[in-house]
Amino acid sequence: MISSEVNNKDNKELIPWQGLALTCVRILQLYCRVFDEDLHDLLCIKEKTCKNCKCSRDVHEVVAEHGARARLGFVQNHDGLDARTLGYTFVPPGLSSARQVDQYYSTLPSEDVPKLGSRGETVRSQRIVRQLPKQDLSLTACKFVEPQYESSYRDFVSGRNQVALDVAVAKPTPPGSFCIRCLQPVHAQQISVTAPRMGKDVWHPACFKCTTCDDLLVDLAYCVYDDNIYCERHYAEKMKPRCAGCDEL
Ligand SMILES: [Zn+2]
Ligand SMILES: [Zn+2]
Ligand SMILES: [Zn+2]
Ligand SMILES: [Zn+2]
Repeated sequence: MISSEVNNKDNKELIPWQGLALTCVRILQLYCRVFDEDLHDLLCIKEKTCKNCKCSRDVHEVVAEHGARARLGFVQNHDGLDARTLGYTFVPPGLSSARQVDQYYSTLPSEDVPKLGSRGETVRSQRIVRQLPKQDLSLTACKFVEPQYESSYRDFVSGRNQVALDVAVAKPTPPGSFCIRCLQPVHAQQISVTAPRMGKDVWHPACFKCTTCDDLLVDLAYCVYDDNIYCERHYAEKMKPRCAGCDEL
């Protein structure tokens, strides 16, 4: 499935402008955006930490303003609330007032609340990159899939999108509900999470986590496998092995 790994020395020769090695992270981010992140991949490929700025690679990917929905190729919801007006980089679909949004976020630890300019904003971006690897989402992001495996890749993607992958919604809870994860009651009218592919199950916002990595599911994006919910990364690993070197399936 995997062809030989590209070695680092070869990548260095691909850097189009040597001055990039000396620029600050903001300039690099701008380049990543303009060149659709490919330029950054040239600089950082195969390295966990960026040589230039010492930050983790996650931070470099410009993801926050697009969010999980766009990354997954889902149609954007334009009839929902505008997150930035309310002071967040993301608000869950399903809520209809600022009060509901604040109520939803009040049940999460502050690090998990993507307030504009906060630590939570960075944590969300990191989760998007980690839970929704772009090489799982489109063949163009894969560097090592050999031509004979392309149709198997496409089958995986279309199967996943048809039966497993979805975005959950937040809404006021019906009376008498219990959280499917912690089995504790969810008080009526408190905001809880429901996942269309999981029927009537409800979760406390803080309980909507991947079964494998126990990480809060970013932007409520989830995959169902065997009646459990997973992040896309760990759902994919139920279906296909992942290469530890290049992180591709
Ligand atoms: Zn970097
Ligand atoms: Zn719970
Ligand atoms: Zn996971
Ligand atoms: Zn590999």
